[in-house]
Amino acid sequence: MILVVGGAGYIGSHVVKQLVETNSVVVLDNLSTGHRYLVDKRAVFVHGDLGDRATLVRIFEKYPIDAVMHFAANSLVGESVVEPMKYYKNNVAATLTLLETMMEYGVKRFIFSSTAAVYGIPNVDIITEQCPTLPINPYGRSKLMIEHMLSDFASAYDLRYVVLRYFNAAGAHVSGDIGEDHDPETHLIPLILQHLLGLRDKISVFGTDYDTPDGTCIRDYIHVMDLAEAHILALHALLADQKKTAVYNLGNGLGYSVKEVIDMCERVTEKKATIEYTARRPGDPARLVASSEKISRELGWQATRSLEEIITTAWNWHKKHM
Ligand code: UDP
Repeated sequence: MILVVGGAGYIGSHVVKQLVETNSVVVLDNLSTGHRYLVDKRAVFVHGDLGDRATLVRIFEKYPIDAVMHFAANSLVGESVVEPMKYYKNNVAATLTLLETMMEYGVKRFIFSSTAAVYGIPNVDIITEQCPTLPINPYGRSKLMIEHMLSDFASAYDLRYVVLRYFNAAGAHVSGDIGEDHDPETHLIPLILQHLLGLRDKISVFGTDYDTPDGTCIRDYIHVMDLAEAHILALHALLADQKKTAVYNLGNGLGYSVKEVIDMCERVTEKKATIEYTARRPGDPARLVASSEKISRELGWQATRSLEEIITTAWNWHKKHM
């Protein structure tokens, strides 16, 4: 049985929907940012905090857990600067409680959602896992601290883990049943689509003077279903003892500028956006594009879905649910 912590969130719920096809699944989520309706009905749902030892003990006593996937985190860069305590408590301290309880119950396989934010402002065009990790905000630091904890736990307690550093997760499940439902929403693609649905009066472009061909920031958008498939492969590798520890980037390897994303949204939806060009958002690197060559070589994973499919699936979901 697999424990999915944060399985009611955007990425967690997409992984759960694939995982229940082949495994029994328990989801633990406090629903602080996730939604009960996103959790596949075939999974057992436990409402609680991952930092609450008693809840974890109840789960590990009741279910034969083979591995834990951990998606539960606060993940807003700006908020992390204003409220770092929240990030060190909910991300770092709570994960330590989870790991401690796992070690107590002999559960030693772990898949962790990390982020491109661990790289800070990279000085290369394509980021590999070898690039220095120099996060520039508490959110990125909280994720990197957990990566260090995992490495130390692997040496000392034989924890086996896969860290997945996501670039820009986007899109929705092809069924249209689950998708990206954040409140507040801060991500580019859902904000554009909500505007095109008439729910926001415009879309702001944060900065037009970056050192990029059209002056707007370039990001690597990866379909949430491609991300989910990488988690399933990582889980199989851990369960088969094919991997003891690994850190992988997850991106498409393609960069799109903010303007290109808006253009694609207009094309897919056949609607015209009202665009406001504003100042840069603090802390945004000009370009973040991943090399996913390592996970492709070691686990045979490939991103197969294009930006157009990302936006088409997100649009289908937004039309149904917003
Ligand atoms: N962005 C923007 N307007 C918005 C939201 C985002 O121009 O209303 C830009 C942002 O500056 C970044 C890119 O879109 O360059 C992707 O931002 P998002 O918040 O979606 O993801 P991040 O890269 O910060 O994880």
